[in-house]
Amino acid sequence: RMPEPRPRPGRSRLLVLAGPTAVGKGTVSARIRADHPEILVSVSATTRPPRPGEIDGVHYYFVDDAEFDRMIAQDALLEHATVHNRYRYGTPRAPIEEALADGRTVLLEIDLQGARQVRAAEPSATLVFLLPPSWDELVHRLVGRGTEDEEERARRLRTAKVELAAQGEFDFHIVNDDVASAAQQVVDLIRVPER
Ligand code: 5GP
Repeated sequence: RMPEPRPRPGRSRLLVLAGPTAVGKGTVSARIRADHPEILVSVSATTRPPRPGEIDGVHYYFVDDAEFDRMIAQDALLEHATVHNRYRYGTPRAPIEEALADGRTVLLEIDLQGARQVRAAEPSATLVFLLPPSWDELVHRLVGRGTEDEEERARRLRTAKVELAAQGEFDFHIVNDDVASAAQQVVDLIRVPER
């Protein structure tokens, strides 16, 4: 792998966590949310139907296409994208602007397209890419969680190849072989706000 870039001097409190399907972005961000209530972990809106156990307003805001269109029209989303050529996902703008204005750190768990949009809108954002220990391990995790059928898994693995090929666009790369360690490495990247 290429050497890590030096931390950017103007590193902001806006942190983007991306990475391929099933790498554990959700688990890592859930761990950060639980251990660091001072960090706002953004809740996205999506047109995807909830998986068993997912709660509206906690894991996502589950909305229909009309509602998603309305959010776009009202400029209520900081970024949005169609992911895996299927459902739409977007980051509600207001909670993020409020948290940043309050001096809090904000973590967005989004896809590559969203990460690029955030970088374009906010060049000082810190972009972090979560990597699997290996490709085989990624496939193993995706199959193991059992939440997608074969066709959907194939779709996600195609996207994963595209995302892995773009990892050079990110400021930092963290291998997720242990959730607690990966979460700590993410938190360590976040500049503590001056008091
Ligand atoms: P899942 O359906 O597995 O929850 O998420 C699928 C993909 O959508 C993941 O790569 C996740 O990072 C991405 N995603 C979730 N929320 C957002 C968002 O608000 N914006 C963008 N661009 N991608 C998102």
